[in-house]
Amino acid sequence: MKLNLVYEFLKSLPVSNESSDRGNITIRCPFCGDSVKSRDHGNFSIKIDVKPGEPMLYRCFRANCGISGILKSDTLQKLGCTNMNTLLELSKYNHTINKNLDKEFISRKPRNYQMVNITNQLNLVKLNYINRRLGTTLTIADLKILKIQLSLYDFLKLNNIHKLSYNYTYCDLLNQYCISFVSMYSDYLICRDISKKLITNRRYTIYRTTGVPSPEDIKLYSIPAELDLLSPVIATINIAEGPFSILGAYFNTNMIKETENVLWLANCGSDYLNSILHVCKQYGLLDVKINIWSDSEIKLNKYEKLLKTLQNRLIIREFSVLYNTKAEDFGHDKDNIAISKTTLLKL
Ligand SMILES: [Zn+2]
Repeated sequence: MKLNLVYEFLKSLPVSNESSDRGNITIRCPFCGDSVKSRDHGNFSIKIDVKPGEPMLYRCFRANCGISGILKSDTLQKLGCTNMNTLLELSKYNHTINKNLDKEFISRKPRNYQMVNITNQLNLVKLNYINRRLGTTLTIADLKILKIQLSLYDFLKLNNIHKLSYNYTYCDLLNQYCISFVSMYSDYLICRDISKKLITNRRYTIYRTTGVPSPEDIKLYSIPAELDLLSPVIATINIAEGPFSILGAYFNTNMIKETENVLWLANCGSDYLNSILHVCKQYGLLDVKINIWSDSEIKLNKYEKLLKTLQNRLIIREFSVLYNTKAEDFGHDKDNIAISKTTLLKL
């Protein structure tokens, strides 16, 4: 038998060779870095077809490495796996062999970074852009609550971060022309270029706050909310692709009557499935209502598939897809939003 998600992940690596008669997969060794001469070849062999209760053993066949052991969730992370369900699948399986074999995969804690928005000319221009776009009257102080950081360099300075994620020239542009949304665990600043000519050449730049890649980093942006898991109110997840879109939905629509146990998220280019599953895992949510505040170009049948997949993992009480018939998404003021809602499921 194979662990489906783990198997899929290992197959997806750039160098991956399966030998089905031996029941193993060979990839590049995450411990020694593997052969420099032949980069399209790996020496790290993992037993993927195991009997129930049998550990997934690995071994590197490079003479000067030779590392061997049991595949655990941290080995997967070392290989770049960030999908919570894949990691959980393995740690749960390892727990069936021995309780101490793999650490229970614990939910993430945010990085200890602070935000600062100074009142200066450039920041006021950026604030005006946000208010004009969303038709709001937010102040500089409000932005902190919404996890909007106006200056990249102020953020790096305050938090004593010396390593940049991009070269100086590009970081200068991000600092000058972007506003940033701080991701859920402060792993990323999602930088939105607000210049007319799109001077950075991209609408969004995903900026890794530490400057150092880490497989645990998660891109999700979330408007801070309190969840009361003891409350009988079923949690509602509101999710859009871009931060502006979810802010527009949050401020400029009144579709959501409840205020208790309501989450507002933007997946920032990650897929909806993993973002929703991650949040449910993080907050321990088993049954939820979901509203997708969709971009216009994404068709309904994509969400029908998403719903089917989610139903295998969660109890979905209600699932709706909302489109803005006046624009491509919800990142607009009230006058430029007209909701078209389709409810695909209601229990
Ligand atoms: Zn090795």
